[in-house]
Amino acid sequence: MELSTATLLNWLRRAAALIHAQRERLTALDAAIGDADHGTNLDRGFTSLLELLPTLEQADAGEILQTSGRCLISTVGGASGPLYGTAFRRAGTALVGHYSVDAPRLLVATREFASAVAVLGKTQLGDKTMFDALLPAVDRLAANIASGVELRPALTNAAVAARIGAEATVPLVARRGRASYLGERSVGHQDPGATSAALLFQALAEVA
Ligand code: ADP
Ligand code: MG
Repeated sequence: MELSTATLLNWLRRAAALIHAQRERLTALDAAIGDADHGTNLDRGFTSLLELLPTLEQADAGEILQTSGRCLISTVGGASGPLYGTAFRRAGTALVGHYSVDAPRLLVATREFASAVAVLGKTQLGDKTMFDALLPAVDRLAANIASGVELRPALTNAAVAARIGAEATVPLVARRGRASYLGERSVGHQDPGATSAALLFQALAEVA
């Protein structure tokens, strides 16, 4: 099974819908350990992205993600805008020229996505950021593909790993971003960015 560019566009539509539906939850999570804007930031960005998607009907997978990344950088704001935007652009670079994305190429693109966050955010696993959802998802996808699991169930498993990774941020002390200013007081709250990252993987699993 491969993902068509139509499926990628559906993924972005589904992601926008999930983020819109959960914007208050994302903002409430950010109210606890940040500045209460993560849901509104992402909802603003993905709403702009939705308006752009009709212009990308003929685009290859790389252009879809690179254009999306530029849109998110200019519309989301906060720390998460540049992080997600750069991640989309880096993933897009791995997909330039492709109108159909097979499992190994999707794995490369998702790896690029996660490493862009790690590099730009200077973050690693356990810092209580979006990377704590992204890395387990990509690792699960890699393990599933290596053992011959079909792409669709592999993406479902990756989405579950992302959600579990996001939930696993609750007991952690934040070491990056605004939440890190709270030190020990960040313990006991789920990271908003890890939560939105899990929604992106959930959306991908749903449309695959
Ligand atoms: P801001 O913190 O500027 O208000 P958002 O509220 O939109 O931006 O996003 C906050 C999320 O961004 C955090 O929950 C965290 O997951 C992520 N984040 C912040 N800083 C970093 C970083 N250095 N590396 C990775 N992710 C980060
Ligand atoms: Mg915030």
